[in-house]
Amino acid sequence: MPSLEVSGVTVAFGRAKALDGVALAAEAGRVTGLIGPNGAGKSTLFDVVSGLRRPLSGRVRLGGRDVTRMNPARRSRRGLGRTFQRLELFGRLSVRDNLLVAAELGPQRRHAARAVDALLDRLALTDVADLAADALPTGLGRLVEVGRALAVRPSVLLLDEPAAGQDAAETERFAALLRSVAADGTAVVLVEHDMSLVMAVCDVVHVLDLGKVIAVGPPEAVRRDRTVVAAYLGA
Ligand code: ADP
Ligand code: MG
Repeated sequence: MPSLEVSGVTVAFGRAKALDGVALAAEAGRVTGLIGPNGAGKSTLFDVVSGLRRPLSGRVRLGGRDVTRMNPARRSRRGLGRTFQRLELFGRLSVRDNLLVAAELGPQRRHAARAVDALLDRLALTDVADLAADALPTGLGRLVEVGRALAVRPSVLLLDEPAAGQDAAETERFAALLRSVAADGTAVVLVEHDMSLVMAVCDVVHVLDLGKVIAVGPPEAVRRDRTVVAAYLGA
């Protein structure tokens, strides 16, 4: 059973359908890529999965349980974590406190301080732990956001362009982190424009275009798919 299962999801903004009958599954232990041109509907799909936007139709299941009518807080308690395309950190709080706020909501709340120290270490953020989050460059800020999502120990982790603003060395470390998070048994869903990162870390990729899934498969096959190539070239 997939950790996350989306079926038949349709969302309209006015007359335009941002999502049109979308299905997606993400399994524990795997990194599932979600790619597609700007405006394809990727962030909207994350909003539907996390409960920030109610779909016109369709279902969302977490660990087999239908959560379509659950609010975002309950979904998060059921193991859903996410990051946002636009950073949503507590800018004046330190990096450590940003993670601590999240850890105190999670299953390790009694040992939150210790869990946060381990997480800072894992993310290589220990050196900047006492800086205010808004003092960090974007690439590091995104890492803090990923840390905040991880602090809640999610079973499903949605990442919306987490590597945007990272340099090549940061992206390489980030790829290793994603593999290790998946290896812990998390179902990771990655929205990402950096195709070399997608190729390096994803087990399977879903391609969205104009609100529809136009291809699903292993990254190498998807990259060669003619419909996918045409969508990216605007043909
Ligand atoms: P992506 O993340 O793939 O770039 P989005 O999910 O942000 O795409 O957007 C999908 C489509 O829905 C786009 O056409 C976008 O303009 C539209 N859209 C997104 N959010 C809103 C909104 N709050 N109101 C109206 N249209 C929106
Ligand atoms: Mg987006």
